[in-house]
Amino acid sequence: MVGVMKLPRTLLAYCGLPGYGTSADAVLADSSNRQHIRETAASQAFIWCGKQESDYITFGLPGLAPLIRVNNGQCVEKRVLGVNIPRENAEALRKIIARSRLLDKNHAIVEDDDYVVVPVLSMPPHPLLKEFHAKIVHRDFPNQESMRDPIDDIRDVAAIPEELKPLLPDKWELFGDVAVIKLDPRLKPYGRQAAEAYASVLRLKAVLEDVLGISGRFRVPTTKVLLGTDTVATHLENGVKYRFDAAQIMFSSGNVEERSRMADLDCDGEVIVDMFAGIGYFSLPLAVYQKPRKIIACEANPIAHKYLVENVKLNDVEKVVEPVLGDNRDLPGRNVADRVIMGYVKTTHEFLPVAMRLLKDGGILHYHETCPNELLPLRPVQRLVDNLHGGRAEILRLKAIKSYAPGVSHIVMDAKIFRPS
Ligand code: SAM
Repeated sequence: MVGVMKLPRTLLAYCGLPGYGTSADAVLADSSNRQHIRETAASQAFIWCGKQESDYITFGLPGLAPLIRVNNGQCVEKRVLGVNIPRENAEALRKIIARSRLLDKNHAIVEDDDYVVVPVLSMPPHPLLKEFHAKIVHRDFPNQESMRDPIDDIRDVAAIPEELKPLLPDKWELFGDVAVIKLDPRLKPYGRQAAEAYASVLRLKAVLEDVLGISGRFRVPTTKVLLGTDTVATHLENGVKYRFDAAQIMFSSGNVEERSRMADLDCDGEVIVDMFAGIGYFSLPLAVYQKPRKIIACEANPIAHKYLVENVKLNDVEKVVEPVLGDNRDLPGRNVADRVIMGYVKTTHEFLPVAMRLLKDGGILHYHETCPNELLPLRPVQRLVDNLHGGRAEILRLKAIKSYAPGVSHIVMDAKIFRPS
């Protein structure tokens, strides 16, 4: 039986965790200079973790040792979509982005020595990003001084008392031609007028108010329709079409990088189980851009499942994605999946026994959880270890996706799972 108490004292930290450095403080070292890195690490208060041959649990990729400096960095609120392009490719790709009218002219391009980050209105097609070795990011950008921000136009046209105009929110969620906004209580009597202003400037068919955020087992948003009758959005991201009713179904824009990462996973010929499929957040990019043999996409909410079925058709991946309506705990089979995706928060660990049952020996788990920062990185690792029952796990990656609440991160941990021999 493996317990967390048996884990090596050098327990891991990896890049991107708030409280463990916000940017990639990780250093990857091959075995030839590990000793040097280890000594440097020790002298600089790095935590080292590598393969622990004698332990059941193994951290780090073979031949690579992740390092991290504990520096109590703050998590930066990430807001605008951008494309991170190696400098040598930047100008060529920027021109294509501009020609495709994807350039976000309200924000300024950001540069450093090696990369140029171009703000975009929506994600350029994945093959284009791949061709230019570019990656999608979600980050802060400086405003482009010379351009007029749409919020200025919205405030200009809004038929509400002048003194309330500064309260109109300068950020919103945009799904195709449906927007979701949060309203200051003082604006509540003017919800309709506010919505009309957003609709006319942003050319929307419907505007919703986010009333109470996301809640419940089905992760349903509580919204109020301020304007319009048709709240079904077709949201295009990374060349993938997501159709859903924004009044009834959530779409986390903060998970954009994770959805994009799924599109990049090499999973040729694999059988994949997406345990919390929703409308296809992760199944669709995987099916559109990779060549898995089958993706079993399980969703318990009948409304989300209806859109999942629709999206599978819309993206032409019926041969690969098999939507299943029901509770993932009822999925049959043992040792059937090369990969299991657990894209859920709050109680994800309660479903680990199901994932362990479904995974083949050597299969890969993508485990999400929301975790207080002070419990990172131990708690998700401990929860996994508690479910190994004599098997072992190799942690391939542990990364914060976004800030979930003050002091709480939504993390994803990738692990290779080995059954007891
Ligand atoms: N990871 C998603 C993203 O990237 O935006 C968000 C989570 S998604 C909304 C989670 C889905 O899991 C919901 O649609 C919910 O209905 C579904 N769900 C919850 N419990 C489930 C269960 N036991 N079996 C199958 N689906 C479940």
